[in-house]
Amino acid sequence: ERTVQRIAAGEVVERPASVVKELIENSLDAGATRVAVSVEAGGTEGIRIRDDGVGIPADQLEAAVAEHATSKIGKIEDLDHGVGTLGFRGEALYTVGAVSRLTVRSRPPGADAGSEITVEGGDVGDVRPAGCPEGTTVEVDGLFYNTPARKKFLKRTATEFDRVNAVVTGYALANPGVAVSLEHDGRETFATEGNGDLRSAVLAVYGREVADAMVDMEWEPGNSDTDSPVHSVTGLVSHPETTRSSREYLATYVNGRYVTAGALRDAVLDAYGGQLAPDRYPFAVLFVEVPPGDVDVNVHPRKLEVRFDEEPAVRAAVEEAVEAALLDHGL
Ligand code: ADP
Ligand code: MG
Repeated sequence: ERTVQRIAAGEVVERPASVVKELIENSLDAGATRVAVSVEAGGTEGIRIRDDGVGIPADQLEAAVAEHATSKIGKIEDLDHGVGTLGFRGEALYTVGAVSRLTVRSRPPGADAGSEITVEGGDVGDVRPAGCPEGTTVEVDGLFYNTPARKKFLKRTATEFDRVNAVVTGYALANPGVAVSLEHDGRETFATEGNGDLRSAVLAVYGREVADAMVDMEWEPGNSDTDSPVHSVTGLVSHPETTRSSREYLATYVNGRYVTAGALRDAVLDAYGGQLAPDRYPFAVLFVEVPPGDVDVNVHPRKLEVRFDEEPAVRAAVEEAVEAALLDHGL
C-alpha cells in the first residue's frame, strides 16, 4: 500500500516547484496576508512556508495530512480552485507527506498554543504541542528521499530554484495585497510589500528598471465588440525596448489564477508587432477575466496550461488591450 502511495505521489509531485505551488495556494486559501517561502538547494533539501492565515486547530491536524482530506469541499468545480492544482483535491499534504519528511505546525489566531504533526515517508506521527506564532508553517525536508527514481529526475539546483522562483513570483504578482517573500539558501530573493499595488509588487520582484518601463493596461469590451466573452484585460506591459531573451517574464492570469496559456502569450507578442528585436520578449503581468465556463483547465493535470473555448475572441481582446496601452504611451 505504501509503495502504491509513493508511486502515485511521485507522479503528481514532480519537483520542488510543484510542492511550493500547492503550499502557497493553501496559505492564500487560509486568508494569509503574509507568506514567507524559504528553500534550500533549490528546494531539493528543504522547503519552508510560513503564513499568518487562519491556522489549523490541533484536533484537525491529523485530518489535514490524511488522504482526501479537504476543508474546501464545494469549491472543487470552481475555476478558482481547479486551475493548476496537482490535479486532484484534498491530497497535497497527504501526497507530499508520502515522499518527504513533512511537518505542519500551526496556531489559529487567538489559540493559546500551537501544535504540530510530522509525516515521514507516509508514516503519520502524533500531534504534539509546539511553540509557534499564529498561522501555519509547513516544512518539507528530503523531498523524494524514499523515491530515488524521482529524485534522480530533478535538475540542477539552479534550475529547480528558477522554477520555484517562477512560481513564487507568479503568486506574488497575482496577489499584490499579500506580502510574499522568497529566500534561497538564507539569502532573500525578493519581498513584496503586500500594499495592494501591482507596480510596487513588480518593483520588488523585477527591480526598478523594469517597474519604470511598465505601462498600465485596461481593456473592457467596447461598442464594437459588446459580444466579446472577455470581461476585462488589465495589468502591466513593458516598453518594447525593455525585454529579456526568455518568455518567462510574460506572467498570465485567468480569473485571478496563475496559468500559462499559449494563446495569451502569442496575443501579447503579436500586439508588439515588429517593435521587438529578434528573440526578445517583453515583461507582462496580464490579468484576463472570462466566464469560468469558457476556460478548459484539463489540458494536463500537472501543468498550468489552460485553453479557451473562444480563443480567437480572447486573443483579440488581449491584443487590443496591449496595443492600446502601448499607443497610450506613444510606444
Ligand atoms: P486542499 O487544499 O485541497 O483542501 P491540502 O492537502 O492541500 O488539500 O490541505 C488539506 C487541508 O489542510 C486543507 O483543506 C486545510 O483545511 C488545511 N490546510 C493546509 N494548509 C493550510 C494552511 N496553510 N493554513 C490553514 N489550513 C491549511
Ligand atoms: Mg491545497
